[in-house]
Amino acid sequence: MGSLEDLRELNRLRVVDELRLRGSASRGEIAAATGLSRTTVTTLVADLQQRGLVIEIPGERHARGRPPLHLRLDALAGAALGVDFGHRHVRVAVADLSSTVLEERRVELDVDGSAAAALDVAAALSLELLARAGIDPARVVGAGMGLPGPLDARTARVGSAMILRGWAGLHAARELERRLGVPVSVDNDANLGALAETSLGAGRGMRDVIYVKVSSGIGAGLVAGGRLHHGATGIAGEIGHVRVREDGAVCRCGNRGCLETVASAPALLESLRPAYGSDLTVRGMLDLAVGGNLGAQRVIEDAGRAIGRAVADLCNSLNPEAVIVGGELSAAGAALVHGIRESVDRYAQPGAAEAVRVLAGRLGERAEVLGALTLVIGDTERLSSAGLAPLRDARAVPV
Ligand SMILES: [Zn+2]
Repeated sequence: MGSLEDLRELNRLRVVDELRLRGSASRGEIAAATGLSRTTVTTLVADLQQRGLVIEIPGERHARGRPPLHLRLDALAGAALGVDFGHRHVRVAVADLSSTVLEERRVELDVDGSAAAALDVAAALSLELLARAGIDPARVVGAGMGLPGPLDARTARVGSAMILRGWAGLHAARELERRLGVPVSVDNDANLGALAETSLGAGRGMRDVIYVKVSSGIGAGLVAGGRLHHGATGIAGEIGHVRVREDGAVCRCGNRGCLETVASAPALLESLRPAYGSDLTVRGMLDLAVGGNLGAQRVIEDAGRAIGRAVADLCNSLNPEAVIVGGELSAAGAALVHGIRESVDRYAQPGAAEAVRVLAGRLGERAEVLGALTLVIGDTERLSSAGLAPLRDARAVPV
């Protein structure tokens, strides 16, 4: 860093970012938004046009005179893949470089058991979606991947043998890279949900946020001072394994009475099945709750209270402006958010409780895959370290 070319590269990325945010803009608008001079913007845009990343389109015609020329990213210049693994599903999305999702699919799958099998499915699905979107795999600039377990921030390997048993010690990003032939970035799923909700969803513009993902597992993504907080080794936000019952059921992590054994989707199904039949699914439970069924609503609200108890402690430590509730169960409606709110009010310090809003996420169960895409196309630092030039060179690399 520090050389003139580095600075120019950084400024090019600022222009790309501005176009990503706005969709299209004139050179003057980009100059105003970035604080770069008009001349600098003109030079940078010429570079980007030459690389085939930016194209000119006619802007809106005003009362008189020529319509101003607008710029936008050339959607065909590149594409990104997002891969979101849950414990029981994989969701893959293909987006162009303006973050528009072109194709997306979710497949039910036992992810925990075999990493190799799950990665094979994700890679095959990626190629299938690229074909459906009419995108040459050689144009993919990278993939982002989310995993439902802790990742060691020092080694990027999957940290816990108990939480993702078939993945322990695996360098998951490298494994997917080998299958797809493109650079892969990986993070914990709740961290990706936090990234997506704070850049595109309910927490847009917020700098201190706790994102809680409630699905077949429970985890939190922490955003502090506008940045994802991973902690020293990547465990930050693992609230699913906070002990809430001394003599509770044994958890997949090996402890007893973890929050997940009480408030995750499988735990809730367990308590509803005696009354609503052994074939009740998560979808069925959510439909019951949204339809006003008191039993389902009660179970979900209780889960919210249990989660809120753990979140209240986090609120004392982190003093966030919002708790954003995402994951599969966030589709349950108000019950889950109410339960969390109630416990935060009861157990957090009054000052911390007053400062925090508890909100339903806006991106639903797509948050994680959108976060995975954001890892690739939304982060200037990552794009910068990957270099913008590979966008063009990538076309020549066979996958
Ligand atoms: Zn546990």
